[in-house]
Amino acid sequence: MKIGVLALQGDFAEHLAILKRLGAETAAVRLPGQLDELDGLIIPGGESTTIGKLAAHYGLIEPLRRFGQERAIWGTCAGAIFLAKDARRAKEGQPLLGLMDITVERNAFGSQVDSFETDLDVPALCSNGNCAPFHAVFIRAPLIESVQAGARVLASLPDGRIVVAREGRWLATSFHPELTGDDRFHAYFLKMV
Ligand code: GLN
Repeated sequence: MKIGVLALQGDFAEHLAILKRLGAETAAVRLPGQLDELDGLIIPGGESTTIGKLAAHYGLIEPLRRFGQERAIWGTCAGAIFLAKDARRAKEGQPLLGLMDITVERNAFGSQVDSFETDLDVPALCSNGNCAPFHAVFIRAPLIESVQAGARVLASLPDGRIVVAREGRWLATSFHPELTGDDRFHAYFLKMV
């Protein structure tokens, strides 16, 4: 199984390290031709405006959309924004892949100083009766305001705000699962692939 991580901007190196640890073959993706050989792709956190602009510059937008019609994509934080059909408060002209039927709000928890960590219940990660909470790191994170069509909610904060959603082969997380040493989300994505 070969998994790519979009490596235009953001913390792609951390995702690559976890995937390798889990035994997947990996590729740091910067050009459209690299997509052909992949079974799945992670779009990391970073700055969604920058990721979108660089993706447009390198001719990746349409190839990524085609890739997502057939294969699995997981967007974390900025990557979740880039994957969404609707990103409220997105900068005008900010390129989005527009694949997943979710509405996200950028920077919904406030500015950088309002970043926080919390333990999340994620029933989809339970295995063999082990349902330990997932320690989630939110860095100037987006909120998944609502899910539409075939998208469903996989985890919310205690107040009901949605932070993980899945629609078929697409997964979106508001936070950074690559920063805590807990590789259960990456293992879950490999199973999806
Ligand atoms: N605030 C960033 C954005 O809007 C996302 C932050 C992140 O990926 N940690 O793109």
